[in-house]
Amino acid sequence: MSTLDSKIPEGPIKDKWTNHKNKINVVNPANKRLIDVIVVGTGLAGASASASLAEMGYNVKAFCFQDTPRRAHSIAAQGGINAAKNYQNDGDSVYRLFYDTVKGGDYRAREANVYRLAEVSANIIDQCVAQGVPFARDYGGLLDNRSFGGVLVSRTFYAKGQTGQQLLLGAYSAMNRQIGKGKIQMHSRHEMLELVKINGKARGIIARNLITGKLERHSAHAVVIASGGYGNVFFLSTNAMGSNVTAAWRIHKKGAFFANPCYTQIHPTCIPRSGEYQSKLTLMSESLRNDGRIWVPKKKEDVVAIREGKKKPTELNEEERDYYLERRYPAFGNLVPRDVASRAAKERCDAGFGVNDTGEAVYLDFASAIFRYGKEKATVNNEKDASNERIIELGEGVIKAKYGNLFQMYEKITDENPYKTPMMIYPAVHYTMGGVWVDYNLMTTIPGCYAAGEANFSDHGANRLGASALMQGLADGYFVLPYTIGDYLADDIRTGKIPVETIEFEKAEASVKARLEGFVNKKGTKTVDYFHRRLGAVMWNKVGMARNEKGLKEAIKEIKEIQKEFKKEVRVPGGAYEFNPELEKAARVEDFLELGELFARDALHRTESCGGHFREESQTPEGEALRDDVGFSFTSAWEWKGGDSEPVLHKETLSFKDIELKQRSYK
Ligand SMILES: Cc1cc2nc3c(=O)[nH]c(=O)nc-3n(C[C@H](O)[C@H](O)[C@H](O)COP(=O)(O)OP(=O)(O)OC[C@H]3O[C@@H](n4cnc5c(N)ncnc54)[C@H](O)[C@@H]3O)c2cc1C
Repeated sequence: MSTLDSKIPEGPIKDKWTNHKNKINVVNPANKRLIDVIVVGTGLAGASASASLAEMGYNVKAFCFQDTPRRAHSIAAQGGINAAKNYQNDGDSVYRLFYDTVKGGDYRAREANVYRLAEVSANIIDQCVAQGVPFARDYGGLLDNRSFGGVLVSRTFYAKGQTGQQLLLGAYSAMNRQIGKGKIQMHSRHEMLELVKINGKARGIIARNLITGKLERHSAHAVVIASGGYGNVFFLSTNAMGSNVTAAWRIHKKGAFFANPCYTQIHPTCIPRSGEYQSKLTLMSESLRNDGRIWVPKKKEDVVAIREGKKKPTELNEEERDYYLERRYPAFGNLVPRDVASRAAKERCDAGFGVNDTGEAVYLDFASAIFRYGKEKATVNNEKDASNERIIELGEGVIKAKYGNLFQMYEKITDENPYKTPMMIYPAVHYTMGGVWVDYNLMTTIPGCYAAGEANFSDHGANRLGASALMQGLADGYFVLPYTIGDYLADDIRTGKIPVETIEFEKAEASVKARLEGFVNKKGTKTVDYFHRRLGAVMWNKVGMARNEKGLKEAIKEIKEIQKEFKKEVRVPGGAYEFNPELEKAARVEDFLELGELFARDALHRTESCGGHFREESQTPEGEALRDDVGFSFTSAWEWKGGDSEPVLHKETLSFKDIELKQRSYK
């Protein structure tokens, strides 16, 4: 075991980033033309990095597996993006955003990175507005804000429930400008399947053209992995169906340490699972918790009557409802962080108060907000004698303007009208705080290989606050990497083009070929999805919202058995060098199977509870996560040792100089 060097700059926290930028190497504009950078991924992190690096003069080769960068999973982001602008004059500041993020992450994030994130957050909004991102505006024309969980101010900028889409269109336009100028070579429908290292440095990738099946060699002076999160290791999640761990896992197997794999975010407001054959879960944005109140019936007989269809939730009066978040956490109420809200929903459902057939649903109710907004609107309209029906009509209009597309999506999926009856929601896997370990410069443990966005582990500790992923992805791509990558590339101005006709590229390509041919030649009896579903069930039941030693040990054993059976029995129809979506899935699921094992190991090792990682053995008498700061104030960074060898744990010690370390409370 070794201690990792995170390369945090010296000096007071508020000066670290400025001092660092002033001191690191830069590449002059003419020399940037001599340098190639590969960016794997064109979600918000990759698109912003590609556009910025190309704008600065580097030659960028960008890759994504979708047919266009516009379809990256980032497009699904609904609720918003945080920034410490203090437009609401409600006491926000860089320090408060930093504090909220570190506390929200249950004190398991690197302070210096989080401070930098808070510092550049305001620039992101300016950048996006300049690109034409249509953020919501208030009556006076200024940018509007709303609140997200775990904070007491309104700092979330949004574009209805389509913030990710609008931000991605902004980044994509910036990319397109450079694609048009030839500074970005865009390789859509390409999947990176291997990293190529030369003399220990990242110098290229092997990618598969997903239309033709042909393998391609691509070289560069540095490689940026911005391939998103790995929530689909659970099979069911709110992530896009294609989201996967392959790029991150491939670099892990080539020497990049993987940090905190067990930190998963389970989002409290998703549409509950409806059956065994479902392949996707749908998020209802956290922004809805601004106005929706979460409750279950107080009495079991009401639960039974509702489940049997004999009673409607709207028939229960206020006294008969348990607004359990408002009861347990009066200061934050329905806006507690996601980990807290998810566990509270599970607690009520485990106690038998779940309101749907499976007993796994709670209500998210907009009736009070509709009435409140309706009354306000009637006053503004000077409709003094408005009837209740009129007030509700006006209120529904306000809610529609704020969340219309989310309500429409809910109705399409469930066939229930959420304006008239409360939504049913339940927690689901949503985001992975763990990921590739990176230092302050976002470089992995492989020289010249960087990781950005959800693919890296940085900034969110053990739990991410809502609207912070978009902020981090865009901070990494627009404002961090463009500086830090130059520090490394300054040594490469005389290197010249990296040739691909070398033994290193040859070997990497041969290993990919052997792997792909191995899949199609296996001729087993079970589909890829069969194994993915089985892995997902183990992950959800034993490595999910609550974990314990016994379950985790069983999970590791069971995952190993699935791995063995997968190796023997997976069936991949078609050939290796043709269009073959089943082959794409097979490679991704094989990587998920290996990741799943590491994930469970990491969860087993961390005997404390923190944020999204809840160990049943470590809780307060009230059932809250109980951290162990003496034993676990570190980031776990795992090193792959290959084959049957156990991975090796390295620790990055976390020091909290600028924030008082205390058990988290939202009461
Ligand atoms: C439903 C939903 C709603 C959300 N809402 C919000 C929100 O309101 N606010 C917020 O802050 N966060 C939100 N999040 C989280 C946020 O959307 C993501 O964390 C963020 O968009 C991830 O961006 P990214 O650029 O890191 O990765 P992604 O957007 O996932 O992009 C990954 C890219 O990598 C490419 N790729 C992956 N593997 C390979 C490979 N092997 N070869 C080539 N290319 C590859 C993909 O093609 C894609 O271009 C939400 C998440 C979900 C699921």
